[in-house]
Amino acid sequence: MARKPQGLLPVPEKLLVWEHADRAVFPFGIEKLAVADGEGNAPNARVMASAEFLIIAVPGSDKGVGTVCKVLQSEGAGEGRMSLVVQGVCRTRFSRPKDGGTTAVRHAPLPDKPLKGSSPLAAAKIRGILDRLNGLAVSAGTISPAFVDELSRIRLPGRFSDILAQELSLPPDKAGELLSEADPRKRVDLLHKFLQSEIEIESIRVEMENKTYNEIDKRQREYFLKQQMETIQSELSQGREQEGTEAPYLGKAESLDAPEAVREHLVKEIGRLARLSPYSEETAQLKPYLDLVFDLPWGKFTEDNLDLGKVKRLLDKEHFGLQKVKRRILEHLAVLKIGGKGGGRIFCLVGPPGVGKTSLGKAIAGALGRKFVQMSLGGIKDEAEIRGHRKTYIGAMPGRIIQGLRMAKTMNPLFLLDEIDKVGMDFRGDPSSALLEALDPVQNNHFVDNYLGFPFDLSKVLFITTANTTEGIHPAFLDRLEILELPSYTEEEKISIAKRHLVKRIKASTGVGDRISIDDRAITAVIRSYTREAGLRNLERELEKIYRNAALKLARGKAVGERIGDQEARKILGPQPFFCNERMKKEKVGVATGLAYTEVGGEVLFVEASVIDGTGNLTLTGQLGEVMKESAQAALTFIRSKASELKLNARSLSKKDVHIHFPEGAIPKDGPSAGITIAVALYSVLTGKKVDRDTAFTGEITLRGDVLPVGGVREKILAAHRSRIRRVVLPSFNRKDTAELPKSVLSSTEMIFVDDIKEVFSHAF
Ligand code: ADP
Repeated sequence: MARKPQGLLPVPEKLLVWEHADRAVFPFGIEKLAVADGEGNAPNARVMASAEFLIIAVPGSDKGVGTVCKVLQSEGAGEGRMSLVVQGVCRTRFSRPKDGGTTAVRHAPLPDKPLKGSSPLAAAKIRGILDRLNGLAVSAGTISPAFVDELSRIRLPGRFSDILAQELSLPPDKAGELLSEADPRKRVDLLHKFLQSEIEIESIRVEMENKTYNEIDKRQREYFLKQQMETIQSELSQGREQEGTEAPYLGKAESLDAPEAVREHLVKEIGRLARLSPYSEETAQLKPYLDLVFDLPWGKFTEDNLDLGKVKRLLDKEHFGLQKVKRRILEHLAVLKIGGKGGGRIFCLVGPPGVGKTSLGKAIAGALGRKFVQMSLGGIKDEAEIRGHRKTYIGAMPGRIIQGLRMAKTMNPLFLLDEIDKVGMDFRGDPSSALLEALDPVQNNHFVDNYLGFPFDLSKVLFITTANTTEGIHPAFLDRLEILELPSYTEEEKISIAKRHLVKRIKASTGVGDRISIDDRAITAVIRSYTREAGLRNLERELEKIYRNAALKLARGKAVGERIGDQEARKILGPQPFFCNERMKKEKVGVATGLAYTEVGGEVLFVEASVIDGTGNLTLTGQLGEVMKESAQAALTFIRSKASELKLNARSLSKKDVHIHFPEGAIPKDGPSAGITIAVALYSVLTGKKVDRDTAFTGEITLRGDVLPVGGVREKILAAHRSRIRRVVLPSFNRKDTAELPKSVLSSTEMIFVDDIKEVFSHAF
């Protein structure tokens, strides 16, 4: 007979009991349960699978309560294992089977206690339960909001509590308690309490989770802080390393013989260095800076030898002649000796290459007992070369003046600035102004180099400059310079210098000594045939060649005591490069000898003129400058305008083209001084008269035929003398320039002074 509890399914009176260890099954609840053969004292899996109803008991519930369940589905999982899907039908009480559940037992279904009226308390609790469930759904995610929503629609507290109980994972004791409770309101109560504790557990869990999270967060923060600390500490320890390097600098700064402001500046920079990492870019800039500053010759001076007699002796010993210059130097020293300031001018030694400017500068330094530094200004176009770059620039360096002083190791060296006439200027600034500041005695006691960044005293430096000609010198310098000219040497002077100085020096430097000597004729031959120069550079070089050859012989054990004559010298030096213009010196129509003044001294040059049939055009060739072209034009115009006076056929002149050429066309030529020479060549070609080859001409010509003065007369006459030209025609205005020529020149060269071109022509033909 089947019982029909509470109007539900009819249930058999006896049923198999299965004490299941997993989840309890509540009325209305559906569960999937796994069962295996011979598991504890459970009935055989296949037996259970074949039953329509079972009592699923709650393990450990001593009261013998369980749920009658309908087996909805059973399927084998192999190896005697089955899974059963069951649905709870009703509560029931039973007596425990003795055989472990293999036989069916009687049971008594336990219906819910009927509810008497409504209970606001129960309603409130249901509400409370739903709220908590919502909370759990949100915080823990263990309950789905859809379920909570479904649940809220169930009005019956019994069903409400059973459905909820099935959803919650209740421990067996709690499940047993809920199953044995037939009063639905009490069950709600129990669930309310249970959820309360569940929520507490959840909140503790969340709190703990947060704590662990915070803990991790904290640890991470600590880690980063620690890392930072380590970095800072390593920086600090490196700082301490820098402190180590700082100490010697500080010591140097304190004992430095420098103005207070400079010392303060340095101490500040040293402090900065101590705070920097040794690997920083700034350290890489600052250290060389400090090294340089401390390397400057602060407070170091050499004492001048102001024994003028001794200075004179020393200068004479090294240099032949140059009396004017030597005298001026002695005057300067005399002024210093008696306490004067020296007039504030800077000496500028002007002369062609090889006349001894540099070596004289060095000799003056030696005689005075000063250190000698030399610097060439040739080609300097950038102001920074003089004044330096700010030290913050990559690869910054001080300017050349400060570098020179560092090399000199004293504050008062003799500083020779070569080639002041070659200082350039471009977009990087004008170096002249920086140079002027360095040279100007009025302001050079606080010369600011950009790299140093503070003023440095240059007032004790003796600056001497050199130049080849005064023409190239910036007018601003010319104002401040005292020009001391070193003229070209005559042949006689060259022979004397070679005998007294050059040969001596070469004998010593080649190690030949007095074992081999050279005779005067050999020296003269070298000067005449192997050099053509104002100075002595090539002569020195050729003599060196001769002596090196002698050294070779000596090394082979020959030639001791030999005297080198001119034949021997010619043999050693080979074919002569200069032919003394012998061919040009032959008299020809249309060729005149001119004199030019160039950087390398005076030069002899030739002017050729030709006329061909044409329309009166003028052609000029031979790399002529504008001024020279104009003077050629002026010469031609003069001849045309004075054609009848000069007994020329004016009409035939207008039907001729004139060509004027300056041989050695590779050398650029300029200046007005060839005017009268061109006129002579033209007149010669137009008249067919030969020009006297032993006469050279220099002078500017006007359209009226006046002859105007020219520059470089001294050098020109010396050049004519070197080329063995016996007569020089030159402007009367230049008479004064010939006064100081060496006697040997004056005695062998006839000087003809003229005022107009007709006089020139009368001497030319
Ligand atoms: P510069 O600087 O004018 O071009 P250097 O000083 O280089 O000329 O001179 C070239 C060479 O000639 C040097 O060996 C120098 O000693 C020598 N010299 C020039 N003039 C004289 C002189 N008057 N007495 C002795 N040696 C001289």
